[in-house]
Amino acid sequence: MNRYSPNNLKRPSKGLINIHPIQRGGILTEEARKVLIEWADGYSVCDVCLEGRVDLLKNPPVDALKQDIAEFLGMDTARFTAGARHAKFAVMAGFHGGIVVLDSLAHYTSYTAAELNDMKIYEVPNSGYPDFRIDAEMYAETFERVKEDTGRYPDLALLTHVDYRYGNLADAEKVGRICEEYGIPFVLNTAYSSGVMEINGKKLRAAFIVASGHKSWSATAPIGILATNYEFSDIIFRTSKVRGEWSGRAFTKKEIAMFGCSPVFGLPVMTLMASFPRVVERVRHWDDEIEKARWFVKEMEKIEGVQLIGERPKNHTLMHFESPAFHSIAKKHKKRGYFLYHELKKRGVFGVQAGMTKNFKVNIYGLSREELGKVADAFKDIAEKYGVEVED
Ligand SMILES: *Cc1c(COP(=O)(O)O)cnc(C)c1O
Repeated sequence: MNRYSPNNLKRPSKGLINIHPIQRGGILTEEARKVLIEWADGYSVCDVCLEGRVDLLKNPPVDALKQDIAEFLGMDTARFTAGARHAKFAVMAGFHGGIVVLDSLAHYTSYTAAELNDMKIYEVPNSGYPDFRIDAEMYAETFERVKEDTGRYPDLALLTHVDYRYGNLADAEKVGRICEEYGIPFVLNTAYSSGVMEINGKKLRAAFIVASGHKSWSATAPIGILATNYEFSDIIFRTSKVRGEWSGRAFTKKEIAMFGCSPVFGLPVMTLMASFPRVVERVRHWDDEIEKARWFVKEMEKIEGVQLIGERPKNHTLMHFESPAFHSIAKKHKKRGYFLYHELKKRGVFGVQAGMTKNFKVNIYGLSREELGKVADAFKDIAEKYGVEVED
């Protein structure tokens, strides 16, 4: 059992600059690190629970946090979920057996949430290689296609605000306006945007905002957010009506889509809370992040054959590169596709998926200019080592 000894539980990325796409927005703030030990025990937040629901707690102030986050997102109310995936599942459970339209860059958890709720899925096409854009107008076209096919319009429309493959920023406002015209509730999946960028659900005409605390709000996994308006809160957060057929027991205050209370307590809630003030502050500096992202693309494209895939210029810090030169090196290298991973690690950079050379993704969110320079230099240095041309 020595393998489980704390001395042997070290993170592979420890001490390295981690540019793994899913890691940047979930790095804990200093404030969150301060609550780690105090709130680490099991059901720590439940010491003084009077109402039987985590989201109603006054001490620690979870109820206040829920309202502050709803307001921050421009929505009426919110709940904490077991990740963005559970938030989507909870929304779709309110439209069980219906029809959902989603963008063709949606995360697998959007598809599986629909599947588990027996929803029929229609996809909004994207523009394909090389920029893979979602054209908002295509939502209207897809709604009409659903109508032709089934005789009615869909029950729900979902847009992935920033997709995980290319880091494209979709035009949520335009999609929101189209959904409003059709009277179709609009779900905006902000797993890669809220918590790092400003989001106003009212302005975007969203009926639901789905967020990921561990991806973009500097919280410990697992935690997500589901924010909605009063119009939908009674449906989505509906309370239990069940009654034990023998005992007569009832649980009328328990919200069924939240599994009665909440799927998250302890550190996920407390780190989200401790990080929140800083998250509110940091979204105002998104412009700096974009400027750094564009600079990084420019530097990377100085390497022969390296090309950004997805929209250009970048509007997000997650990016996808094509790199035929690294792929050619891999074919001859004794480590094969793993050479890039190892070469980067030697230069203090972690997070490009091991085995990937033809295409790879990185996220530069929150890196200092110095760190970013170090990452760009690492790629350039590796290219030069293997005789790939790098512009000055
Ligand atoms: C990461 C991601 C998810 C999953 O988020 P969880 O909070 O881990 O459930 C969902 N959608 C998109 C677009 C993502 O990028």
